[in-house]
Amino acid sequence: MKIGVLALQGAFIEHVNSLKKLGVDTILVKKKSDLKDIQGLILPGGESTAIGKLLVDLDLKDEIKMLIENGLPVFGTCAGMILLAKNITNDERKHLALMDITVKRNAYGRQNDSFCIEENFKGISSKVEMVFIRAPYIEKVGENVEILATVDSNIVAARQKNMLVTSFHPELTSDLKVHQYFIDMIK
Ligand code: GLN
Repeated sequence: MKIGVLALQGAFIEHVNSLKKLGVDTILVKKKSDLKDIQGLILPGGESTAIGKLLVDLDLKDEIKMLIENGLPVFGTCAGMILLAKNITNDERKHLALMDITVKRNAYGRQNDSFCIEENFKGISSKVEMVFIRAPYIEKVGENVEILATVDSNIVAARQKNMLVTSFHPELTSDLKVHQYFIDMIK
């Protein structure tokens, strides 16, 4: 199995390291040809505005959109979740706009700008370590979206068919359970 990690900006190396620990081959996706022969794709955290712009400038957006529409499993963390969302409450931009969720960027106020917590995650038997960094959360989901985790009643992880998203950064912890969940989704 080979998983592509979008490597335009943000925390992509950390995803590569987590996948390596789980014995999965990876490729850094920086151009169209890197998308050949991958069985899954990770959209990392970073700055969604910057990554969204680079997707267009590097002519990757349409190809990635088509692959996901055709069923390629994708995992978006934080900014990656914003890229996948069909609606963003506090931003006029839309990016890949594939997942039936409404997200709020930088949804945690100053005091909770960044924080770490352990919470339940549907389908994973023990609590998951969650690191939030200027994170979005999901305000609304469509009927085909399964809610996987909430923190203080805000939705922070969800799945719609081949698309998995988390507000938090599992790649910044030693907890590999969410990456394993994504690998199981691919299988
Ligand atoms: N605040 C960033 C955004 O709105 C996301 C932060 C992150 O990915 N850690 O794009």
